[in-house]
Amino acid sequence: MTASTSKPKFLKPGEGTWQEDKSEIDPNNATTFVYNPHVSLSLVQQRQRLPIYTNRNHILYLLERFQTLVLVGETGSGKSTQIPQYLLEAGWGKDGKIIGITEPRRVAATTLASRVAEERNCFLGQEVGYSIRFDDCFDPDLTKIKYMTEGILLMEMMADPLLRKYCVIMLDEVHEQTLFTDIIMGLLKKILRKQKRLRIVVSSATVDAEQIKNFFNQNSTNDPSKDTAVIMSVEGRLYPVDVFYIKEPVPDYIKAVVDTAMSIHLKETPGDILAFLTGHKEVDQAVSLLKEHSDRIKGDKMKMLVLPMYGSLPNSEQLKVFRYTPRGLRKIVIATNIAETSITIPGIVYVIDCGFMKIRWFNPETHTDTLVVVPVSQASAEQRAGRAGRIRSGKAYRLYTESDFEKLAPATPPEMQRTELSMAVLQLKALGIDNVLRFNFPSPPPAKNLLSALELLFALDALDKEGQLTKPVGVTIAEFPMSPLFSKALVMSPEFGCSEEIITILAMLQVQNIFVSPAGGQKAIQARVAKRKFEVAEGDLLTLLNVYNAYVKHRGDPNWCHEHFLNHKGLKRASEIRQRMVSLLKKFKLAFVSAKRDTTSICRCLTSGLFPNAAYLHYSGVYKTVRGDQDLYIHPTSVLYNLEQPPWVLFCEVLYTNKAYMRDLLVVDPKWLEELAPHFYHRTTDKDH
Ligand code: ADP
Ligand code: MG
Repeated sequence: MTASTSKPKFLKPGEGTWQEDKSEIDPNNATTFVYNPHVSLSLVQQRQRLPIYTNRNHILYLLERFQTLVLVGETGSGKSTQIPQYLLEAGWGKDGKIIGITEPRRVAATTLASRVAEERNCFLGQEVGYSIRFDDCFDPDLTKIKYMTEGILLMEMMADPLLRKYCVIMLDEVHEQTLFTDIIMGLLKKILRKQKRLRIVVSSATVDAEQIKNFFNQNSTNDPSKDTAVIMSVEGRLYPVDVFYIKEPVPDYIKAVVDTAMSIHLKETPGDILAFLTGHKEVDQAVSLLKEHSDRIKGDKMKMLVLPMYGSLPNSEQLKVFRYTPRGLRKIVIATNIAETSITIPGIVYVIDCGFMKIRWFNPETHTDTLVVVPVSQASAEQRAGRAGRIRSGKAYRLYTESDFEKLAPATPPEMQRTELSMAVLQLKALGIDNVLRFNFPSPPPAKNLLSALELLFALDALDKEGQLTKPVGVTIAEFPMSPLFSKALVMSPEFGCSEEIITILAMLQVQNIFVSPAGGQKAIQARVAKRKFEVAEGDLLTLLNVYNAYVKHRGDPNWCHEHFLNHKGLKRASEIRQRMVSLLKKFKLAFVSAKRDTTSICRCLTSGLFPNAAYLHYSGVYKTVRGDQDLYIHPTSVLYNLEQPPWVLFCEVLYTNKAYMRDLLVVDPKWLEELAPHFYHRTTDKDH
């Protein structure tokens, strides 16, 4: 999306997304409650009603005096939308510098930017803009408030290590403790020493503020008056939330979410519902089940408006959840973890918590980074429940027993301590941090994980024996916003004569839900038949290539997509991402060439990057990783699932549910591994597998 194509409809103050859409109001339901007492207020008034408003001057004062402000406040108090505006209004940014806000999630960056542009009555992409991976909407000359993902700020640091463009950096949502948050905090600590004018706002819903303050405080004396960091809390307005537990554990939490939502809808007073599930597939499934129920509701009962919310949903669909619900309708939002703190959905009175979330987990013994569904922490459960108490007292339904709640971990460990670190290490190296083992991380990762990352980068030829970035491979892949394995394949692609195809495959992998999979019945069978037309024996990656090429051949026709059970919006997004990658290739002067029908070259090129993710078929019928001997299975969505199991495969991702499943597979010849990664596969390929 560019600034010129993403202009929203011009809105005058007071015509914001919170306004009731009168055209949809059912006149028969004129007596229903209005939940948001502020809905008819102008946007200016809405801003003034936020809990943070009374702290405005104090915040500005503290930022004059201190370099770092640690701001703690309930979700929804106005931190993310208001602070950048207060700063701008007070004159920060007058010297041509920018107020930058980093968000752990893309959806937060884009929806916050839309909201703030609307509050300021300007076009998105002008005074207020955003920048996320493969999608920019800002104007370097006009934008004063820029929301971005943390990864983008890190990329910018490579070109501008002292962040001279910025007058204030707000690190939002630090309680999420992502890998990038921790890296940025470590780097900012260094930058602050050199850039005395730069200000940092660290904002969080629940974090240990004292620890962050101490981390940033540059005061080496015992005299507190010399502190450079300060803490401030914003009182949130939270109403009591009644928490309900189930008596017996549920066998199927998706069904339980649907049943609970239905029973709230039929029995409880008006008010919107927010339910948490773990991934987009589950969300889509619950949404379609609820829609079926909703079609069956007869008579003058309240109607349901069922909406999904997850990261890979197109932006326009995401914005729907923020619309004020017209009278006579009950909004039911089924979301992933992104609705826990990153975004605040108005109108919620009931929360359903399935009790699980999906996170990444790295096992240094087996060298595998796995997506796992794990029980939530108590902190997450409390945060989820709290979402019900923002406009009046609410109810939270936990789909687990009270004694299970007692057994939950108090908090989820920071990402730095549980994920694969090669991308983080690569970026630190590119930013001139030679000794990553001694880098000042706010929550230091286990040395084993760091060493495993260093080893991997060496194997990828991104680092040399001394641990320095290699040229051009290491230096180039550090600047690609993808996993180093993918970036390596991309960098190698001109040599294999297939950069065009590699770009397509990588762009397709960025979009998760290309194939539409209806929940069941005739449609599910038709979808499976439709998918088969694109399937090839080489596996999922080349199947994705086929899908994209067919999509282009049919000129992106939405009807054709619909007939073939392909997600048109997803494909459109893949084509936008692909375009960005083409520019990336140009930037690094890498040739854009097509392998035409030479699929072997494409497969070999993918192998040159993905080789660390190899698995072989053990005689027991189970796949095993070469490095860690971990048992792996082919995921049921893979095109290889119903075929004869190939002896060797490469995978892009491991998802753990009841077993560890490999996703996005490529069938490979083990000779390629030996040839393309001899130092890595030398000994093991001698074994008789
Ligand atoms: P915090 O960062 O403290 O959690 P925010 O600044 O995100 O709070 O939100 C402040 C208020 O603005 C909330 O009441 C929220 O509902 C509203 N809001 C935030 N984003 C949007 C949006 N995209 N559309 C409509 N309202 C929004
Ligand atoms: Mg926020």
